[in-house]
Amino acid sequence: MAPADDPVTEDSARPSRNDFIRQIIRRDVAEGKHGGRVVTRFPPEPNGYLHIGHAKSIVLNFGIAREFEGARCHLRFDDTNPLTEDRKYVEAIQEDVRWLGYDWGEHLYFASDYFERMYDLAVGLIRDGLAYVDGQSEEEIRAGRGTVTEAGVAGPDRDRPPEESLDLFRRMRDGEFADGAYVLRARIDMSLPNMLMRDPVLYRILNAEHYRSGDRWCVYPLYDYAHSLEDAFEGVTHSLCTLEFENNRELYDWVVENTGVEHRPRQYEFARLNLDYTVMSKRKLLRLVQAGHVDGWDDPRMPTVAGLRRRGVTPEAIRTFCEMVGVARADARVELAKLEYTVRDDLNRKAPRVMAVLRPLRVVLTNWPEGKVDELEAPYFPRDVPLEGSRTVPFSGELFIDREDFAEDPPSGFRRLVPQGEVRLRYGYIIRCEEVVKDEAGEVEELRCSVDLESRGGTAPDGRKVKGTIQWLSAAQALPCEVRLYDRLFSVPDPDAAAAEAADVEDGAAEVADFLNPESLTVVEGALVEPSVAGDPEDTRYQFERVGYFWRDPGSRADGRLVFNRIETLRDSWGKEKQKQDTDSSKRSEAKRSNEEDASRKASAGSHPAPTPGVRARISELEDTFGIGSVEAEILARDPAVAAYFRAAVAAWPSPESVDAPPAHAVPLANWIIHELPPVQGDRALADLPMGPEELAGLVALVEEGAVSSTGGGEALAVLAREGGEPRAVVERLDLAQVSDPDALLPLVREVLAAHPGEVAAYRGGKRALVGFFMGQVMRGSGGKADPELARELLQRELG
Ligand code: ATP
Ligand code: MG
Repeated sequence: MAPADDPVTEDSARPSRNDFIRQIIRRDVAEGKHGGRVVTRFPPEPNGYLHIGHAKSIVLNFGIAREFEGARCHLRFDDTNPLTEDRKYVEAIQEDVRWLGYDWGEHLYFASDYFERMYDLAVGLIRDGLAYVDGQSEEEIRAGRGTVTEAGVAGPDRDRPPEESLDLFRRMRDGEFADGAYVLRARIDMSLPNMLMRDPVLYRILNAEHYRSGDRWCVYPLYDYAHSLEDAFEGVTHSLCTLEFENNRELYDWVVENTGVEHRPRQYEFARLNLDYTVMSKRKLLRLVQAGHVDGWDDPRMPTVAGLRRRGVTPEAIRTFCEMVGVARADARVELAKLEYTVRDDLNRKAPRVMAVLRPLRVVLTNWPEGKVDELEAPYFPRDVPLEGSRTVPFSGELFIDREDFAEDPPSGFRRLVPQGEVRLRYGYIIRCEEVVKDEAGEVEELRCSVDLESRGGTAPDGRKVKGTIQWLSAAQALPCEVRLYDRLFSVPDPDAAAAEAADVEDGAAEVADFLNPESLTVVEGALVEPSVAGDPEDTRYQFERVGYFWRDPGSRADGRLVFNRIETLRDSWGKEKQKQDTDSSKRSEAKRSNEEDASRKASAGSHPAPTPGVRARISELEDTFGIGSVEAEILARDPAVAAYFRAAVAAWPSPESVDAPPAHAVPLANWIIHELPPVQGDRALADLPMGPEELAGLVALVEEGAVSSTGGGEALAVLAREGGEPRAVVERLDLAQVSDPDALLPLVREVLAAHPGEVAAYRGGKRALVGFFMGQVMRGSGGKADPELARELLQRELG
């Protein structure tokens, strides 16, 4: 198949970001602060694996370093707690950051390397009368700190002479005392309103082995003291952290100021990422691992970077998601649907389509010539994806289809195989179910079908209408595999809140694990996939047509077994359904009922509730009138405004076509509305866009007629959605017209071939599918402007 060539243009292609942090940095640079330098850092503590919340911080810090001239981002391990830290986390974190696409160059730092300097500065504070050794217990210190409404009180050691503190501090370091015997405290003010400023603890005694410094130290600095110094030592200019550190900023500044370090970093806070249906704390995630609720840190249901990676999510999707969430100063929970959308959208652009059957039902074709195998050519990508390549799929007299694509007693709106009904087999033939064979228990065991031998490619010779198209596999060649269907890890949107509430009510222990989704993993044994996958790179991400996005589970590749993880479902039937359910509980039970009635829909939508009967009627209507797929119809049908927009766009199509329906342009329009419009639409209602369905139709028509490529069309759409305008004029203004002149394109084609002699040789040696790889290169080289058909033609000519 086509090697996975990443068609996603780099991050720079996205609209320039302008959050409050970047505004601050831009202003600082303009004013020449820090000599115009920009230095950020990502400072994980190596006490667990990174999660997607950390990814947000990574994308922000490293992203800024990329955007500003001469800027850089440090990777610094904030390893000041010997009790919880470990070298294995250091390594895993580096792997994760690299995998996300970032590089710290030579700027790798460890807080533990600064222990000596930190100690010296603490000695300085004591000398200056700004710190003292306190012999109170933790309990006494807490009590003496007062409350929000009451000032704290000075402890008995507060006025200990510096010489005495210096002596004690040295002996603390020398290991003379047990843990907790003494602490070093800043001497600030016990009555300040910010309680963190009431003589905070700077050092504690921990007689523990540190994974890097071994037993060299038995006093360790606390976060507030250590972090500000780390930033200062490294010349960090903008120290970005999450909002819960807002109150710590005063102390951060105090440390920087009073230790007299040369460089003055500044701290800015942004909202942490909280994602629905999961938890975002290393501590809580660790508990799930330790209790065996998940299969390790990299379980594909975990919100860890390692889990997302093993699941098959791409780093590009995570970066896009983090950028989409943006940087703000208000804490909010982010809907899981947002992440799912990004993952789906990313894969839609790059995943080759193949066929798999999760729950096989045997189909015997009674009139197929004995022993004949028809090798059908099947494209890897639909028309609106600017990638090419194809494989052959064997068709024979004994096939498997998915059990859920057959119904003896079909619910209304069912457009797949029924007794005496016809269905189209994708890329293949039209078959008709003549006989249902059952076993003793009455279970359907096999279907005996006739095949229309004249319908190769899926069109009936007499033009009769066949509504449904389903995937299938030839029994003899299909490969057995295991399929793992993942769903959300928790059954409630906010597991932390649910656990807190439960602990309150039950007055006792409750933890997030009580709210795990018991159906977060469904293992399907005995699934089948088409034989072509055997020759693909093992990290290929696929769309199993009509089923979802999948890739081979990295954990089981080594032993040669075919195990596929579901990366994402094909659609989010969940998000919008939820809104309805939230506002209408009677509809909820209705949705539940229809969910049980129509198990087939449930399977293709993950465990999301099925559409209500009303929505289902709209789906059928859209499918029938416009000849679009059931998945597309369902997405459009769920929101009446979207469905209306779609109809209006179809009606506004500029070049009139013959009226015998369905109109061919409905399919690309549906795809544009589903995949391209939402990202540029943002939070606005369709009605609030400066462009209407007519403009969309005009633009898609330009793409369809080849005046502009789909990538170029995407760029034009972003502009239309931002400022409106006439599609053709926008395409011209942006210089997006497709390159359809062979003389203009040929040099690029030759350049691509010259740059990849290995692939050229492989192609000539028979790896014809490599044409998809070359296509990707040419498309990218032309900034998406090459006419794909012409490019393909030229490539094939040049390759001989
Ligand atoms: P956890 O509670 O999961 O252990 P942490 O904040 O203690 O998280 P660190 O290793 O100290 O983990 O975090 C490294 C950096 O990542 C910090 O700058 C922190 O602010 C940031 N970070 C952690 N969680 C999030 C989140 N959910 N959203 C955004 N940034 C985060
Ligand atoms: Mg932490």
